[in-house]
Amino acid sequence: MTAPLPPSYLLRGTAAGGTLRLVGMDSARIVEDARLRHGLSKTATAALGRTLTASALLAVVLGKKTDSRVTVRVEGGGPVGWIVAEGSVDGRVRGYVRQPGADLPLRESDGKLDVRGIVGMDGELAVTRLLDNGEPYTGSAQLVSGEIAEDVSTYLGVSEQIPNAVLLGVYEQGEQVAFAGGLLVQAMPGVTDETLARLEANIRALGQITDSLRRGGLLDTIQRVTDGLDVQLAPEAQPARFECRCSRQKAADSLKFFSAAERQEMIEAGGQEIVCHWCGEHYQLTPEEIEALDQGGVHARA
Ligand SMILES: [Zn+2]
Repeated sequence: MTAPLPPSYLLRGTAAGGTLRLVGMDSARIVEDARLRHGLSKTATAALGRTLTASALLAVVLGKKTDSRVTVRVEGGGPVGWIVAEGSVDGRVRGYVRQPGADLPLRESDGKLDVRGIVGMDGELAVTRLLDNGEPYTGSAQLVSGEIAEDVSTYLGVSEQIPNAVLLGVYEQGEQVAFAGGLLVQAMPGVTDETLARLEANIRALGQITDSLRRGGLLDTIQRVTDGLDVQLAPEAQPARFECRCSRQKAADSLKFFSAAERQEMIEAGGQEIVCHWCGEHYQLTPEEIEALDQGGVHARA
């Protein structure tokens, strides 16, 4: 047994006199939680882990309110099927993949997890969020890499007109997630060519974000990426966690979409199990709880 991972968190800040905005995340605990909840293969863990991390970073960049959420959907035609992740500005994240058991051998070229292979490149990355008027808005961009980070970066640049750099990574030791995280740097109006050149050089020097997280953690990674750019971090880290919005009542309510005859069959069968696809939670509903649905608004026992 290894010690449990410390809680995940986000760090926000600015650099170069406010012409760069950045948000970083240590998401190891969240990704490990997702792996255990969904029984993810090694490569599926990396693919969902990067997408979960991206959803939290995008929520901070695109969200207008303290509880704004964004949903990221990646569908590239690979064996993992689609990947869906929802991130909230307040640090809550949830997500799943279509085929959690799908896996591929390590890439022959560099011995790394074949995330591109399992995700595929024939498709798009779509981001849905609520606009100020409460209407959902979905933007999308064709996948350019299947490795997620470059795809998120392309989405932000092409669909949101936000110049940016995105780093995402998941590192597993044995069966478990050991390190995971991400960094999103946004270039603001007025940014100079010198600042962008320095940022690019720093990112090149950093190499893989998972190597940097292993060596020195998230704060050190941010300091390396903003080396010479006078980074100013917000004093408080934002705690983050895998947390679903499902409940026993919502699970029961989902049975309202079935006919009364179908619900009667469930009652006679001794109840019905509902599994939340977002988080893998199992709700074993009793015949009494299903009966209550037909009696109009009587709340099932929690
Ligand atoms: Zn759930």
